[in-house]
Amino acid sequence: MYLPQEIIRRKRDGKKLTNDEIEFFVKGIADNSISEGQVGAFAMAVYFQNMQMDERVSFAMAMRDSGMVLEWDSLELDGPVLDKHSTGGVGDVVSLMLGPMVAACGGFVPMISGRGLGHTGGTLDKFDAIPGYNTSPSNELFRKVVKEVGVAIIGQTGDLAPADKRLYGIRDVTATVESISLITASILSKKLAAGLQALVMDVKAGSGAFMPTHELSEELAESIVQVANGAGCKTTALLTNMDQVLASSAGNALEVREAVEYLNGKYRNPRLHEVNMALCAEMLVLGKLADDEESAREKLQEALDSKEALDRFARMVEALGGPSDFVDNYDEYLPKASIIKPIYAPQDGVVSSMDTRAIGMSVVAMRGGRRKASDEIDYAVGFSDFVSIGDEVDSNKPLAVAHVQTMEQYDQASQEITQAIKIASSSSYNEPMVYSKITLEDI
Ligand code: URA
Repeated sequence: MYLPQEIIRRKRDGKKLTNDEIEFFVKGIADNSISEGQVGAFAMAVYFQNMQMDERVSFAMAMRDSGMVLEWDSLELDGPVLDKHSTGGVGDVVSLMLGPMVAACGGFVPMISGRGLGHTGGTLDKFDAIPGYNTSPSNELFRKVVKEVGVAIIGQTGDLAPADKRLYGIRDVTATVESISLITASILSKKLAAGLQALVMDVKAGSGAFMPTHELSEELAESIVQVANGAGCKTTALLTNMDQVLASSAGNALEVREAVEYLNGKYRNPRLHEVNMALCAEMLVLGKLADDEESAREKLQEALDSKEALDRFARMVEALGGPSDFVDNYDEYLPKASIIKPIYAPQDGVVSSMDTRAIGMSVVAMRGGRRKASDEIDYAVGFSDFVSIGDEVDSNKPLAVAHVQTMEQYDQASQEITQAIKIASSSSYNEPMVYSKITLEDI
């Protein structure tokens, strides 16, 4: 029997906690026997004193085991159970294409996604823009769709990692979110509870990333790779570029449209395509669905060219309650803003940088995201046709096109976007989209 305050004291003093102490504490978080003050104090102690890798493994596994852990063996699937998780970005619509593409190549993707957090968009909010799509189906329907379609993208149920749900809520109000030990355990508790065979992490670096510096993004990626593998889930991470909006649009319905047009071949933003293909290929290799990256990319291209990936997306939408003709008539189904108006740069020149976080916050400000959990979202608003760093802009070529409901929103968005996107006489920007791959062997 342990006393919570003794465990907090030991962590406060920089001691390494035992597996039993961690299990005891996490159990107390989940069953409310440890008070909010004690959980907050524990989080602050970890924030300052950190956890060693084996403590983080114990912590992530205890949080995983605080609720239901999914199992897929009984479904006798004829392929590996795989997933991808991103630390969050702006215009990061990858999951919507990646799930169906990996499914088209023989993987099974039970993707449990989250809502937007801060300036970043959430996959779940994007699916909520599709009329009828049920992001909280019964476990039975979720399993059926995974088995029959190969992919189901849904929201987190209260049964998965409930200790993380309580801990995250307390971290949010005690200035303890920004701890790599805590972030690692938080992200992985939910992914490990999904019963995956392999996971690919997309850790963002740059002005729109969750972590404030490139070095910290790298540190987070290394932590996640070590802890996930330590907990028995084969995991690698890609460190990817979030210096600018990833897709051409940001905003829920606009990103769904972009995802469908990516899958049907109408338009593939090159940055988005590069990051998406790299992550998909890594999943196929990890899941042994391809021998190497090159053959994985060939398979994935074939899944796009044959429209098999588009078909998987269509089947998933229908199976989860959305329209059966969604991919043919998406423009009729997706909500539209009442004002669609370009935003021009104050002077001609070349785009030299973007404050991507500010752009994400601009979407939130027009109610495309939430400031607090209870806020209602306007799925129609956002931006389309974003420029890229290095593009020339003038009075014919806008920075982006705003999709808003009022002229007040337009004026505010226009001010925010012209401040966030910097114009110069030239740009020497030449950063790659994928900085590095982090595997257990490399650390
Ligand atoms: N996302 C999570 O799920 N948890 C964190 O702690 C940070 C980001």
